[in-house]
Order: sequence, then C-alpha cells, then structure tokens
Amino acid sequence: MRIFDPHIHMTSRTTDDYERMAAAGVRAVVEPAFWLGQPRTSAASFADYFDSLIGWEPFRAGQFGVRHHATVALNPKEANDPRCRPVLDLLPRYLEKDAVVAVGEIGYDDMTPAEDEAFATQLALAVDHDLPALVHTPHRDKARGVERSLAVVAESGIAPGRVALDHLNEVTVKLARDSGCWLGFSIYPDTKMSPPRMVELLRTYGTERMLVNSAADWGRSDPLLTRATGEAMLAAGFTDDDVDLVLWRNPVEFYGQSGRLDLTDLDTPSSGTFEGNSILRGGD
Ligand SMILES: [Zn+2]
Repeated sequence: MRIFDPHIHMTSRTTDDYERMAAAGVRAVVEPAFWLGQPRTSAASFADYFDSLIGWEPFRAGQFGVRHHATVALNPKEANDPRCRPVLDLLPRYLEKDAVVAVGEIGYDDMTPAEDEAFATQLALAVDHDLPALVHTPHRDKARGVERSLAVVAESGIAPGRVALDHLNEVTVKLARDSGCWLGFSIYPDTKMSPPRMVELLRTYGTERMLVNSAADWGRSDPLLTRATGEAMLAAGFTDDDVDLVLWRNPVEFYGQSGRLDLTDLDTPSSGTFEGNSILRGGD
C-alpha cells in the first residue's frame, strides 16, 4: 500500500513517527503551515517557521525515506491577531519556492471579519501564483462554515478543482461535493472522523476527489490512521486500486496542479546534511 498523507504537521512529530509511517507505506506527505498551539508574536516568527517547512523538515523526512512538501499561509486562527497579519506581505516570496505546493491552511476558525479578509486575500494569492488552495473548515458550526467558505471560494474566481475543503464530515460532505472542490477528511483517534465512518462515506459518495489525511499535529492524533483507513477499505470490499486512488493518486493529482510535486527517486532515502547539520546530535 503506498500512501500520500496530504495534511500532516510533521514539525510536531518525532522520528519514531517517521519510521513507523515509512514502514506502513507512507512515502510522501504535505505539511500545511498552521498554528503552533500558542500565539506567535510577530511576522518574523512565521518566516523562521516557513523556512523550516521548506528546509529542515523536508531534509529530516528524507532521512526516513518520506518525501515532504509544504503549503504556506496565515492560518485562520492567527488571522485575528494584528501582530501576525503582516505575514501576508511575506507570503508571495514563499509562494515562489519549489517545495511549496499550495496556499494553506486558509479558511475560517471563528468566522470573523478579519478571517474573511485574510481568506479572500490568500485565495487571490493562490490565483496569482497559479497554486491550489487548502481550506480548513471550522471545527464548530461546520455546515455554516462550509457554506461561507464556498461563497468566498466562488467569489475569488479560483477554479473549484484547485481547492480542497478539509476536515469534512457526514454533515458537510454533500455540500462540498456539489461545489466541485476536492474533499478532505481528517481521521482522528477518538473524535470526529474514524476509519469506519470514512469507509461509509466512500461507499456513499465514491472515491473521486476524495482525500484522506491524519492531520496529525501536537494534539491527540495518529499518523498511521491513513493506513488504518486503507485497511478498513479493503476489509469492506474496496479493491487495492480503490485504495491506491484514494491514498495516493488523488493527493498526487490535487497537489500536482502546482507543477511542483517532486516524487522522483522515492526509493532512495537521502543522506548527508542540511546546511551543515545532520539529524545526529551535534550535527556529526
Ligand atoms: Zn492542520
């Protein structure tokens, strides 16, 4: 089983995770820029974070045979913090980088006017830079969040086929599907979407434009739930080809629209150093 996790925050995960993921068939990941769990105090803090998402973290992933790409954005939560908003002026520089395959995560947290503005501004950046967009849908008031997100997407002029709406569930899947956007589902250990619930949605809505991710981060989450979903699909009678479509070819097609997805030489784990530093203590 080859797996592409289209949404995982590896910066907050350990090397054990990379080892277990590689052993489970995870060959490639996309790490969206997001909130750190505590507020950033300036745009400069984002610059260091973005630099690590396109520098150190892809290097670290490569040591374990996992290909790493990133998406960059001002996340919905921090769009509300005036100290962070100047990062919008930094984004164009990062959106030119080869390792960046979309604008994201953007979208709504609390659906405030500041979020409206940051969301629309960043969709315009996606259009300008010819990149897809990864849209986080709110964990509270989900249906209204998806409705409003779709209105902002429509207004931006970005093609729905270049947008993934993430963190969908049974309540929001139909609305999102009818829009022509890609459908992202985050599989969590004990809340929200689970592998059996995901299998039911695939049975009902088919495998087209479906993306499954672990959204693993610094909270309770599990980077192997993509694999668990693949196993649950097989147990439910889906074919190996169905699993490959959902867990590999779909995310490749979605992020491939950036023209920057590099999946060559996946079988050769990288070695060496990044700017003189290795993953060994002391940089040896
Ligand atoms: Zn996320």
